[in-house]
Amino acid sequence: MSWFIRKEKGINTPTEMKREAPDGLWYQCPNCKKIMHTREHKLNAYTCVHCNYHEKIGSEAYFALLFDEGAFTELDANMTSGDPLKFVDTKSYPERVKATIAKTHLKDAVRSAYGKINELDVTVACMDFNFIGGSMGSVVGEKIARAIDHSLKTRTPFLMISRSGGARMMEAGYSLMQMAKTSAKLAQLSNEKIPYVSLLTDPTTGGVTASFAMLGDFNIAEPGALIGFAGPRVIRETIGKNLPEGFQSAEFVLEHGFLDFIVDRKDLKEKLTALFKMLQ
Ligand SMILES: [Zn+2]
Repeated sequence: MSWFIRKEKGINTPTEMKREAPDGLWYQCPNCKKIMHTREHKLNAYTCVHCNYHEKIGSEAYFALLFDEGAFTELDANMTSGDPLKFVDTKSYPERVKATIAKTHLKDAVRSAYGKINELDVTVACMDFNFIGGSMGSVVGEKIARAIDHSLKTRTPFLMISRSGGARMMEAGYSLMQMAKTSAKLAQLSNEKIPYVSLLTDPTTGGVTASFAMLGDFNIAEPGALIGFAGPRVIRETIGKNLPEGFQSAEFVLEHGFLDFIVDRKDLKEKLTALFKMLQ
């Protein structure tokens, strides 16, 4: 019976010899908890193959999904935040920015670029929620304003992809000024009759919703995205009433007339192309 009984004792496989699946090979959907291959998930535009949950992705993934062959030229890639208010919470604002840059390899909460989407020249600005909650400070406002300037100069449609917790507390009034600045720039775009499409993703809230995100010639959203100004708790406490089911979801916002349509991320590139062609 020596086939089944190990005669030699003390045979151990060292840890480095053990075969294990490499990190990040599997993706578990946070919504339906089902598991799929990360490659399969990525090929499905980072949406769940079982329940279509749209994973929160950033500018890198959107640029790769949208631009032909993933090729684009970034605008103002090195702009970083100042500290006009000498703001300190649990740490100083410059320290927080520095730590976030090191962690995320991003310079601020938005990246802007131009390139081709199905051979159409488009200027795109896309927010990154990983950078201090996608908060809008002076850099976000300025980069969006400059991206719109690029649209104006080259007469290319402008696409804004929003994902934000709202204004950046550490820049207080300077953050709020970005609402007026970006809105004024969009008015120039409108005067020149250059199309602007705003894509709202999960979540789009606060000063971002209250300015550029809702000013598109078309305001579109990803399925299930949370879209609102104040959070549900604040609203509930203010009006003293319970909120209806699905409140502030993209579907609810669409039903109440604040969105033009909801777009599945897998169809985003084709839908945008059709839209830009129609608006040309
Ligand atoms: Zn799922």
